[in-house]
Amino acid sequence: MPKKRLMSGMRPTGKLHIGHYLGALGNWKKLQDEYECFYSIVDWHALTTGYRQTEEIPENIREMALDWLSCGIDPAKSTIYIQSHIPQIAELHLLLSMIVPTAWLERVPTYKEQLQELLKQRLNERLDSAANILEDREVREEAAKRKEMEYLATYGFLGYPLLQTADILSVKGEIVPVGQDQLPHLEFAREVVRRFHFIFQKNIFPEPESLLSEAPFVPGTDGRKMSKSYNNGIFISDPPEEIQKKVKQTVTDPQKIRRGDPGRPEICNIFFYHRFFSSESLVKETETNCKNGSLGCVDCKKNLAQVLSDKLAPIREKREDLLKNPGTISEILETGAAEARKTARQTLEEIKTAAHQH
Ligand code: SF4
Repeated sequence: MPKKRLMSGMRPTGKLHIGHYLGALGNWKKLQDEYECFYSIVDWHALTTGYRQTEEIPENIREMALDWLSCGIDPAKSTIYIQSHIPQIAELHLLLSMIVPTAWLERVPTYKEQLQELLKQRLNERLDSAANILEDREVREEAAKRKEMEYLATYGFLGYPLLQTADILSVKGEIVPVGQDQLPHLEFAREVVRRFHFIFQKNIFPEPESLLSEAPFVPGTDGRKMSKSYNNGIFISDPPEEIQKKVKQTVTDPQKIRRGDPGRPEICNIFFYHRFFSSESLVKETETNCKNGSLGCVDCKKNLAQVLSDKLAPIREKREDLLKNPGTISEILETGAAEARKTARQTLEEIKTAAHQH
């Protein structure tokens, strides 16, 4: 039986951290054996909110591709490509945009939430820099809000679930690994498929199904969600000394001040990492000895730094090998793009025929 086709992508944010590893990459690696995987570096998506800072995108793409390959995303098993190298996705996005009511996009729950969140973030930055120009805070706030809305509430930002849909449909993705929060986007894609089939009276696409992946909330070194923008990440490519430094800074149970104090591993960030990376016996030992107070945080962190360095060592080595042959990464991405283009071209032909666009 042929393998089902799976499609997934990541915005190029640069070097990946262990949150990405636990949330997506580790899972992607396993999925390669079960599905025919298309993995895309979705650089157009990076523009939907970041079109004012594009200079870092090429380097971010390279770093991300390096991390994917070093973590075991295998070009012999999966098609790995950069979204903007597949112009058919843009064409498909355009054609689909003709049949999708704007109300569908406006009601995607993440749209309003993300818009408000970004607005809050950007406003704070803008207000700081505008402080010297305008004296009155209320006037400043109103002016900044209007300006930021102009920047954020773009057509591209509203339409990004449709661009995601085009990503999936371009390769006729049947399975999409998603977290709970992404389910509305997938439901949106399924609705678009049904609408297309209904309007043009031709069934072309599979309705993509979700593959719920347990993307755990991975805390960063400060306890907030691990994220590049919070500067609290432990990167997959961090050398042992950097890992040690970051683990040392990581927030633990605030009530456990010194060895002897009983700790609460269930609320400790260090223990969270232990659970994912350490052996079962070390996890048990850490839990018991933290609770009874015989383990101090300094030693517990030393153990974790060692485990993390050892676990990430093969990934670091593979990365270094790839860096010695920089042409390899471009070759892999070009081969992947050729394959994805071929598939997307076929899909587009079928769509154009159905929609009388020839
Ligand atoms: S001993 Fe380990 S698990 Fe317990 S609070 Fe300290 S760092 Fe966390």
